[in-house]
Amino acid sequence: MTTNTAPNSPQASPLAPEWLAVPEDLNVLQAPMWAAGVEKNDVGEVTIDGISVSDLKEQFGTPLFVMSESDFRSRARAFKDAFDDAFADICGGVDVYYAGKSFLCTAVAQWVAEEGLRLDTCSGGELAVAARAGIPGANLGLHGNNKSDAEINRALDMKVGRIVVDSLDELERVAKIASSRGEIAKVMLRLTPGVHAHTHEFIATAHEDQKFGLSMAEDSTEEAGLSAAEEAVAAATSYPSVELLGLHCHIGSQIFEADGFALAAEKLLGFQAAMQAKYSVILPELDLGGGYGIAYTPVDTPRPAAEIAQAMAAVVRSKCAELGIEAPRVSIEPGRAIVGSTTFTLYEVGTLKTVRVDVPGTEKGLENVTYPRRYVSVDGGMSDNARPVLYDADYSAILASRDSDAAPQLSRVVGKHCESGDIVVRDVYLPADVAAGDLLAVPGTGAYCWALSSNYNYLARPGVVAVRDGAARLIVRGETEEDLLNRDMGVANV
Ligand SMILES: *Cc1c(COP(=O)(O)O)cnc(C)c1O
Repeated sequence: MTTNTAPNSPQASPLAPEWLAVPEDLNVLQAPMWAAGVEKNDVGEVTIDGISVSDLKEQFGTPLFVMSESDFRSRARAFKDAFDDAFADICGGVDVYYAGKSFLCTAVAQWVAEEGLRLDTCSGGELAVAARAGIPGANLGLHGNNKSDAEINRALDMKVGRIVVDSLDELERVAKIASSRGEIAKVMLRLTPGVHAHTHEFIATAHEDQKFGLSMAEDSTEEAGLSAAEEAVAAATSYPSVELLGLHCHIGSQIFEADGFALAAEKLLGFQAAMQAKYSVILPELDLGGGYGIAYTPVDTPRPAAEIAQAMAAVVRSKCAELGIEAPRVSIEPGRAIVGSTTFTLYEVGTLKTVRVDVPGTEKGLENVTYPRRYVSVDGGMSDNARPVLYDADYSAILASRDSDAAPQLSRVVGKHCESGDIVVRDVYLPADVAAGDLLAVPGTGAYCWALSSNYNYLARPGVVAVRDGAARLIVRGETEEDLLNRDMGVANV
């Protein structure tokens, strides 16, 4: 591929964030944002497993989620292998629970199972998908801070391998329900170790002010000196209808460094050792949650799974030795790191508009200067990707239907919804000749995009296509106008 130093190529726009460089060549797919198998063909079109985006558009329409099945499988397998290797001498390997909330349908649940992973769910609906996919209950976990009695009963019906209990209240309910059924519920306790990881740092605090988990802070209950976490251990070990498997924590999401995970593991193991001694029990399992980061833009630098796994294993190994306890069987719950990068969203470009934005003079007496920002509208938006609105998340985009020699132009990719916040990609350089009818691809949309999609403005939710061995098939079809009207009782059933 030629390097495109377009004549009159502008300097970085003063409107662009500092981290965003002007790409040397706008036609190049920048790793590591893209799934394996995504390439540009010799006429400059983006292809996946050899299938061009114009073919995908013709067959399935836009917007469309395009997922590489082989990439999904290899990322799932890579996590499993990396953690199995790192923990082999400590606890014989690791159970990897794919966090279904990031993206779930029956096909994906089956890939997960076929690659040797288990599945985390957090609602009756997700359990229903798992059941329909034929996942054995023993390979399922059930999360949630407000499980209904119906969901707990359903989990027991399905004999799920673990119910991750989130509060003292819930522990008592699970114990009662299991007891009334004459069964024993397998339970983990979700603790809040006071470690909050962000992408590049973590903070540690004694107290938690959030809805999830049982606090490990000593004064977190009214019982003198007993933490909520300890009260839960005491209760769980006293209920005959509960089998306490172990402790769980999940410290955050889109985390790049291992130190937050390591600190949480140390805290949980220390607590585990104390509880095992005090209550004369052994907790055979320990779940360290998910949250491993991926690349959404060229400046994101996620670590390979092996590197994080080794760092976490080193801490578990040395902490268990220091405490003189046998290491529990470790499990983890990656979602985004498995599915996020497997998928791009394909959109068609519609309306283009350039606005002029004032940038204040930097020194006294200097006049304001205006710079152009181009708004590139696409045929979806916040209904298929709510993350920019919800979390200020950054994404990237590429002109997918052709190469271009035009100069880079600072652009903002926006949707078609009636909200000015309806942004898909806040800042990206796109070729200046992007026009209506072009196709744009936004990488890294496998996790928490389709899963969070809505029908805002009565847009139909897009379908999801899985590509494997040069063939594309729908794993979730897109909605139709009929679907949109189906539950409207004024016209349904007439
Ligand atoms: C969301 C969540 C995960 C997965 O997080 P990712 O960032 O997608 O890896 C794992 N465990 C729990 C308890 C969660 O809530």
